[in-house]
Amino acid sequence: MSAQRDASILDVIVVGAGPTGLLLAGDLAAAGVRAVVLDRAAEPVQAPKGNGVVGRAALELRRRKLLRGTGLRVVRPPRFRFGPLTLELGLLRSPLHVLPVPQHRLERLLAERAVRLGATILRGHEVTGLEQDGDGVTVQAAADGSPVNLRARYLAGCDGARSFVRKHLGIGFPGVTSADISRLARVTIPPGAVTRVGDRIELRGIGQLAAFRPNRTGHGSITIAPADALDRSAPNDVYIVSTHEPRADSEPTDELGDDELRASLRRVLGADLPYTTAYAARSVVANSRHAERYRQGRIFLAGDAAHIFGAGGSAINAGLLDAVALGKHLAAVLRGEAPDTRLDVYRSERRPAVQRTLALTRLQVALEAGDETGEALRDVLEELVRDRATARRIATLMEG
Ligand SMILES: Cc1cc2nc3c(=O)[nH]c(=O)nc-3n(C[C@H](O)[C@H](O)[C@H](O)COP(=O)(O)OP(=O)(O)OC[C@H]3O[C@@H](n4cnc5c(N)ncnc54)[C@H](O)[C@@H]3O)c2cc1C
Repeated sequence: MSAQRDASILDVIVVGAGPTGLLLAGDLAAAGVRAVVLDRAAEPVQAPKGNGVVGRAALELRRRKLLRGTGLRVVRPPRFRFGPLTLELGLLRSPLHVLPVPQHRLERLLAERAVRLGATILRGHEVTGLEQDGDGVTVQAAADGSPVNLRARYLAGCDGARSFVRKHLGIGFPGVTSADISRLARVTIPPGAVTRVGDRIELRGIGQLAAFRPNRTGHGSITIAPADALDRSAPNDVYIVSTHEPRADSEPTDELGDDELRASLRRVLGADLPYTTAYAARSVVANSRHAERYRQGRIFLAGDAAHIFGAGGSAINAGLLDAVALGKHLAAVLRGEAPDTRLDVYRSERRPAVQRTLALTRLQVALEAGDETGEALRDVLEELVRDRATARRIATLMEG
């Protein structure tokens, strides 16, 4: 460790206790760096979000022994979804690694590891101001309405898609916003109204739908999957449903009303979905954006604060890989093993990788389009991915 470190200030303040910030804090603590995580939420969020980690990020978690004693394991699936297409990867040595895990459980494991290694997590602390100078960054936060000031040599903004840190620094977030809206929820469907038939789901009075993938109808698409296939602790009458339709003038909301959910399902299905209760209902408009910079002086962006993707399944991985890279370089500089310029390597490592992920997710969005162009893309790519080598090549790109 460098003898030059000033004991009166922290090494790193991490803003945001999502997967990105928690992995970063744990990695910094493992390297002997004093990290404090600030999160405005008083408690970890339990609402269903991501269902797993895909690619190299899953191996990074396993390498940190995060899965030991949890019953969780990294698998190599013989097939995987790429937008509406199925990549048949083969039973032997599938190139893709997947860790199925609900996001709230992943966050709990990462938080426990970070604290065990010596990081501090302060919940109920909303960052409201930042200032940096030649030696460090001063943060103003509000905790229970009272102002708190903290100072560190570096700061990592892992504070999600609407990042305060990014906006405060005036870093642009160019990209595209979808013209469609997705409404998603967990719904309870009574056993008499639904039957699982292989990889299809038979709904009374409606017919069969393919599970796990968009079923295109004249008015959009619907995706349905049994919740217990993704989270073994979920009751077996709960299904995850989502509709995808043109957005018109709808605004996305974290608290989607039952009327709006039922109306959307009716428009897309042409019939009522026979569910009794819905929870965790929300609507989202997909964005695909990339921050103009990852670094401004002593402040860095990582995870959703730095990039968001229009198709699911890549965001957590990309954030975790940011955390791995940023943690490694920050630790090297703070331990006196590398000059400050080493921190620029974070950008040169991660930016091209994220650019590639953006390209892959934008292609998945284009493949989902209900128009003639989407149909043409699906026709051509469906034929190409029947060639196993092509399917495995795409999976290798997804592996990261
Ligand atoms: C319904 C849903 C389903 C999803 N499914 C998937 C999926 O299947 N696969 C996938 O990869 N991704 C999925 N995602 C996206 C995934 O959840 C995010 O990419 C991921 O959470 C980003 O992690 P993060 O740590 O970068 O940011 P976040 O998880 O957003 O964490 C940011 C944290 O910062 C805190 N914060 C914000 N502002 C401040 C402030 N001013 N002061 C202090 N704290 C602050 C917030 O409270 C939050 O805890 C899904 C998202 C949703 C909503």
